[in-house]
Amino acid sequence: MPNSFSAQARTIDNTAGRPIHSQVLSIPFDKPMQSQFQTLLILAIAFLWQACLPVATLADRVQLRQQASGPAAKAAPVLEGEILIEADDGGMLFLQNDGQLKILQPPAIASKTNEDLRSAALPQKDFGQQLLAELPNGFQIHTTRHYVIAYETDRSYAKWIGNLYEGKLKKSFQRFWKNRKFRIKTQEPDFPLAAIIFSNRQSYSAWVQRELGKPPEDMVAYYNLMTNRVAMYDMTADQGNGQHAPKRDLDLVLRDPRSVRMVSTIIHEGTHQLMFNTGLQTRLADTPYWLNEGIAMFFETPDLQKKQGWRGPGQTNFERLGDILRYARHRPIDSIETLIATDRRLQSGGEESAWAYAESWAMVHFLINRKPAAFTRYLTHLAEKKRLVADEPETRIADFKKFFGEDLSQLDTEFLGYVKELK
Ligand SMILES: [Zn+2]
Repeated sequence: MPNSFSAQARTIDNTAGRPIHSQVLSIPFDKPMQSQFQTLLILAIAFLWQACLPVATLADRVQLRQQASGPAAKAAPVLEGEILIEADDGGMLFLQNDGQLKILQPPAIASKTNEDLRSAALPQKDFGQQLLAELPNGFQIHTTRHYVIAYETDRSYAKWIGNLYEGKLKKSFQRFWKNRKFRIKTQEPDFPLAAIIFSNRQSYSAWVQRELGKPPEDMVAYYNLMTNRVAMYDMTADQGNGQHAPKRDLDLVLRDPRSVRMVSTIIHEGTHQLMFNTGLQTRLADTPYWLNEGIAMFFETPDLQKKQGWRGPGQTNFERLGDILRYARHRPIDSIETLIATDRRLQSGGEESAWAYAESWAMVHFLINRKPAAFTRYLTHLAEKKRLVADEPETRIADFKKFFGEDLSQLDTEFLGYVKELK
């Protein structure tokens, strides 16, 4: 087991003119945030963790009393949940009963007991109350079967998102993977799925500053791997004269071409959340970013002809297609290799980042449609990876080759042929 935990922040910004979403890992402690993600899954920990496997710490359900003097203890003196990994010095990766992951440093924990615990997950009603207690005043809760939506805006907007997530996205997502091409049986989420909708950019920015320790800049929505929540603001305020869409006009808003970005962002972040809550991917395990982002982009494409603004996954994303075709004119021969080996290209910012996103979208599109059986096995393999273990670039490449073949140049030819046929 690891000796101790340290933490770094990780963000992905989708820059270069398309900075619409982000996937965020933050460590919400009294540690200073670090803006540059280098090794999220800290290599030292990874090494020590691997060196002493197996450690039977999973599903240790406990109650933790935090030190009264610690800043986190004021808000939540007692935490309930499961210890996922425990370090030698008592630090731990803790899964709280509302689905939040926390890294607890030993001085923060006063005592530990495993008595008197009720159910594994917080009931939806308590979950909503807890969420409200954390948020600024003025929020209300809208629930669907699996989602708890905290909103500071018009109720009709929250209901629209509830219908989009519960009625369309979650159903489509699970049906898609169950399809005979994949036969992946997704799980039902262990915890309510939370979305927080701020009324405007300003209140959203204040929240981002508080939660991530830096301004959102171009990021208009994000899924936070640690809190397991999606946060966004009512983007109808960006359309028209800063007025929110009244209930009767939401249909009209969705017919506005400017809504494309809004719908794709909401679906994109909701897809990230579903991937990590239905067993398709594991939070804090080493899922390559190109894959994670590629799947989110595969699902996101809006269809404003439909009442909800979205039809289902796999539509051609013409913006990404344009980018990948432009990139193909000067694309290096080892482009697949650099895409899968590390997350660097997706995080580099600027044009390179936009190309890497486009290539990720196209690669997922290609693998889903041309290599579904291998893609399924690859996903299953990645879902079984251990938390907090960072793969070396060689492992990433070897994993990929194991399922899609040793000859990456042959695959590259197939891939480019596929992309050029897309319309
Ligand atoms: Zn994303």
